[in-house]
Amino acid sequence: MPRRLASQCRALLATSRALAASLVLAASLVLAAPVLLPASARDLVAQPAPRPTLAVVGGRVIDGYGGPVIENGVILVGGDRILAIGREGELAVPPGVTVVDANGHTVLPGLIDMHVHLHIVGHGDYRRWDELYGTRDASLVMPIAARQLLMAGVTSARDLGARLEDILTVKRRIAAGEIPGPRLFVSGPFIQHAPYEEYEKDLRWGVNGADDARQKVQRIIDAGVDFIKLIDQDQMTDAEVAAVVETAHRNGKAVVAHAHRMAEIRVGLKHGVDDFEHTGLGTAPGYPEDILQSLRERNSSLYWTPTLSPLYTLYETGSVFPERLDDPAWREYMPPDMAREVRTSLSQIPRLPYYALFPSRLPLLPTKFRQLRESGVRLMIGTDAGIPAMFHNDATWREMAKWVELGVSPMETIQSATLWPARFLRREQDIGVLAPGRLADIILVRGDPLTDMTVMRDVRVVIQGGRRVK
Ligand SMILES: [Zn+2]
Repeated sequence: MPRRLASQCRALLATSRALAASLVLAASLVLAAPVLLPASARDLVAQPAPRPTLAVVGGRVIDGYGGPVIENGVILVGGDRILAIGREGELAVPPGVTVVDANGHTVLPGLIDMHVHLHIVGHGDYRRWDELYGTRDASLVMPIAARQLLMAGVTSARDLGARLEDILTVKRRIAAGEIPGPRLFVSGPFIQHAPYEEYEKDLRWGVNGADDARQKVQRIIDAGVDFIKLIDQDQMTDAEVAAVVETAHRNGKAVVAHAHRMAEIRVGLKHGVDDFEHTGLGTAPGYPEDILQSLRERNSSLYWTPTLSPLYTLYETGSVFPERLDDPAWREYMPPDMAREVRTSLSQIPRLPYYALFPSRLPLLPTKFRQLRESGVRLMIGTDAGIPAMFHNDATWREMAKWVELGVSPMETIQSATLWPARFLRREQDIGVLAPGRLADIILVRGDPLTDMTVMRDVRVVIQGGRRVK
């Protein structure tokens, strides 16, 4: 059919001419108007190249982009940023630069745990914990949790529920270098229908009407939170949920919502929340078709943090390997009386109220996880670190190992703890991958996570913002 072919050729020519014209236009705009260049690009032109201050040499580099690994890699760091990445023999290390020997190790971007709580450290009874330590969140508890996370290779973390001033204080202190911890992205208090208990009213802000919702969300945004944590949205009115999501989005903040109940998921989807947490507390065999259909429709923009490992970890600690509770590793940086208190609170794990549901819930988790994966939503690693028996020192690798056990490729699992969280946080120019220009958040693990994800429990070196902290 020559006529059709000819018309296709003309269309193609027209397209390529238009493309060429727009490229010329774009180029001339750049040439004619250099002031349009962003500040960072101007700085690159104006300033001399920074000198390397640290080099990670040898080892296998996984950069976070999901492509081939770099064997015998070299990473040059200058100040807080990565300057260059290459191979031994091709990228020279200038004399006098401090060298971290990575031989025998895998080198990865610092991990980003997308669901932690710094105000709790694994205690089995929230009310008692609050009575004993609730007034010392910012001064004592949160710094311990933050330090444990950092030593486990978590260089950035998302805290999803804490008292507003406490978590903002700790976020600020970490950013200022006063205390060690992950770069924090925080929600402050939960926004919900009503606090469950009187003692929680600073942690859980109830909303009463759309105006109240708008005003409270605006208040915590003005105070400096990074996003909004919404829970029990199925118990709120439509107008209240709409007010929460609209106020957050108008301020450029995402809304992270619980997905414990099917109705909670449906309300969240209806109002356009950005990220769901958990897989659902019930014992339903899986997600119903209407929810899966909605997830497929929104899968290009929707995130989901399933937090699978807490159920398994609590079950295994309670019924399979209680010896874990005598491991000194989770007590690190804790005063002895605090460690004793946590240990005692966990001495009867099988008597915890929700433990009774575990035998029926655990076999259903792989199905729900598979449904979420098949729906195409973007899954992220998050652990709920801080809830009973989920200690900050060993939460993140457990979640990663569980994903691999349930069929996710090791590379995709690593990206779900690095690249994808950075995108959700809109910080992909800074964190989540190892590339020139990014912050030098780098970890070394002994062995190969691509064949055995449990090696992630053994983080040997942590570099955060170009500074070696472990
Ligand atoms: Zn949580």
